[in-house]
Amino acid sequence: MSTPTGSPAAPLIGPLLTPLEPDERLSAEDMAARRADEFLAHALRAQAQAASAQPAVRRGVCLDCGDICHPSTMYCGAECRASHERSLAARARRGKA
Ligand SMILES: [Zn+2]
Repeated sequence: MSTPTGSPAAPLIGPLLTPLEPDERLSAEDMAARRADEFLAHALRAQAQAASAQPAVRRGVCLDCGDICHPSTMYCGAECRASHERSLAARARRGKA
């Protein structure tokens, strides 16, 4: 049986995967499952990094028109709130269709 070469695979795998012991041998099926788990862990980490890079909501900016508004509010007025809610509802309908 050939030993796996010490490839410098991703040093930080994440909480979903535990590092393999140096002398641990995997069957072909286990290697395939391990590879799938690594792919998922890397995708989750990339998604978490991308999500943390940008805030979900910018404070002090109206979600509808983009004008400056009070930092404790999400809209500059009732009209913008209604307009944004209509556009969200329309987007949700399109997403489900
Ligand atoms: Zn507005």
